[in-house]
Amino acid sequence: MEVDFKVAPEEKVRKKPSFIKPWMGLKYLFKKPVTIKIPYERVQIAKDYRGFHTLDWKKCVGCNFCGQICPARAIEMTWIEVDGKMEKRPHPKIDYGRCTFCEFCVDVCPPGALGFIENYILTTEWKDEELELFDWVPIHPDKFREINEKFPDYRFPVEKIEFNKETKEVTYYLRDGEVMKFKILGYGIRPPKPPTKPAQKAAAKAAEKNDTKPVEKPTEKKEAGKIEEKKE
Ligand code: SF4
Ligand code: SF4
Repeated sequence: MEVDFKVAPEEKVRKKPSFIKPWMGLKYLFKKPVTIKIPYERVQIAKDYRGFHTLDWKKCVGCNFCGQICPARAIEMTWIEVDGKMEKRPHPKIDYGRCTFCEFCVDVCPPGALGFIENYILTTEWKDEELELFDWVPIHPDKFREINEKFPDYRFPVEKIEFNKETKEVTYYLRDGEVMKFKILGYGIRPPKPPTKPAQKAAAKAAEKNDTKPVEKPTEKKEAGKIEEKKE
């Protein structure tokens, strides 16, 4: 069906200047605002709202499917040490400065280890230490729900994240008072190399600098061979 229409000329749609109209806005000063004071006010959110990620560390097989599908490149596989023991597989760390909450990563996770919860409020005052909140190795969904029972306000489950750059130790101060500690050993899908001893490191550096092969020490057998040759 063809629709015949014309664009109205500008002089017809131009509004006439009015002295009264600007003052009509004053009536809104006495009306209840339609906006919501987040995070102080709560709104009923839709079922299955896509919020922060949860992860069952024991189920995660470290396949990196989640990292590969992520369109925002927000996932980095991370090797973690808990109570002095390295996890057998790497786990995803999510950068909430990049994540778009599309949840492709959740859909693709083969063992269903990665999930999401309806919590979505992450507010900070942009202090340096608070920016650590944006790097998140998700916690178990059960722990998340436990916190939500106490604080049903859709906020991030951690009050503070401390990251010690020297020791690589991460501390999560959960909202229910629990403290979770782990160490980041490295990133990527391959396990991190064990740290080399300082003496070995120095020798390797010196060898690299001089570009010389290590001098071979004469063994007893070689010495004996030389003496015999001379005797002949
Ligand atoms: S929700 Fe989307 S953007 Fe966020 S980490 Fe998962 S795949 Fe990436
Ligand atoms: S969270 Fe799922 S998709 Fe991502 S590495 Fe673990 S098992 Fe694989």
